[in-house]
Amino acid sequence: MGRDALKVVSVGTGWPGIVEIASDRGPIPIALHVSRVSPHARKEYEWRFQYPGNRDPVVSPDGILPILLGVAEVDEKVVFVAFDGNSRVGKIVRSSLLFNGGILMDAARDGWAEYTSTRGERAVALHPRLLAAYVEMLQSGIFPEGREVANAASASGVVAEDDEEAAERARIVVSRLVRNGAFSRDVREAYNGRCALCDLSLDLVVGAHIWPVSAKGAPDKVWNGLALCHNHHAAFDKYYIWIDPTDRAVKFRPNILEIASTDAAAKIFTQNTRPNLISPKKATDRPRLAMFQKRYEELAIFYGWAG
Ligand SMILES: [Zn+2]
Repeated sequence: MGRDALKVVSVGTGWPGIVEIASDRGPIPIALHVSRVSPHARKEYEWRFQYPGNRDPVVSPDGILPILLGVAEVDEKVVFVAFDGNSRVGKIVRSSLLFNGGILMDAARDGWAEYTSTRGERAVALHPRLLAAYVEMLQSGIFPEGREVANAASASGVVAEDDEEAAERARIVVSRLVRNGAFSRDVREAYNGRCALCDLSLDLVVGAHIWPVSAKGAPDKVWNGLALCHNHHAAFDKYYIWIDPTDRAVKFRPNILEIASTDAAAKIFTQNTRPNLISPKKATDRPRLAMFQKRYEELAIFYGWAG
C-alpha cells in the first residue's frame, strides 16, 4: 500500500478504528475491528478469530463497511485474516470465527488464500498490501475465484518484492478480476442465466465480452457481452463461431462443420447451436453492431474464413 493508500481517520477505542482506503473512485472508509487470531485447541488445523468480549459488538458507524481483521505472522511475514463484518453487526454474544490455519501459510507464499466455513463465512488470508483489493470485493459483492486471485497476486510479485510498484500491479490485476466478475453477473442476469447460443442454463453460463477485454477501450457494458455456456464460450474464444452483426446469424467455421459431419457428438453440439443469437430480456442490452465490428477488426487474422 502506498503512503497515501491508507489513512487513519479515527481510532477511538480501536474497535473499530476508522480508516480510509485509497481507490480509483476516491477514499473508501472502513471500520476495522482488529483482534487476535490464535490456534483453536479442538482441532489441529483449526484457527480462530476471537471477539474481544460481550461489551464490544461489531458496529458499522454511519453505515461504514465493517471488517474483522486478524493479524498473524508467518516466517516473520505479516499476514492479515479478514472477514466481512456485516453478518456480525450488533451481535453481543462472545464468539469466534473459525478458519483453517493452512490459509495463513498459503497467503504468506502467494499473497492470497481463502477458506469458507461450514456456516458459509469466508475467511480471506491476505498480504497487507492487498487490503484495498479485499475492500473492493466486499463493496461490489463480487468475489472472483480465490485461486485466480492468488495467481494474479503471485504473478504481480507483491509477495516477493513487497514494494509499492508490485502492490499497484496487484491492485490493478485483482481489480480487473472484480470488474470481470461484475460484468459476467450483469450479462448473465440480462439473459436470465441462459446461453445466447443454445438456451442452456443450469448455472453453467458466464458473461463473455464481444470486443475483447484485452483490447484497450472495450467497455464493460451488457451490450458488449453475450451470456454463454462454457462450451459456447470456449467455441467463441477459439473463433469456431462467427456472428453476423446485422442479423445476428450464427455461423460455424467450415472445418468444424466438416468434423461434425462424421463425429456424432460434434454434430449434436453444432445442431444445438441456434441459427440466430437469442436476445436478452431488454432491447437496450442487445449486443451492439459496433462491438462485433471491433471484435472482427481486432481479431481479423482469426476470422478470415468468415468472409
Ligand atoms: Zn450454449
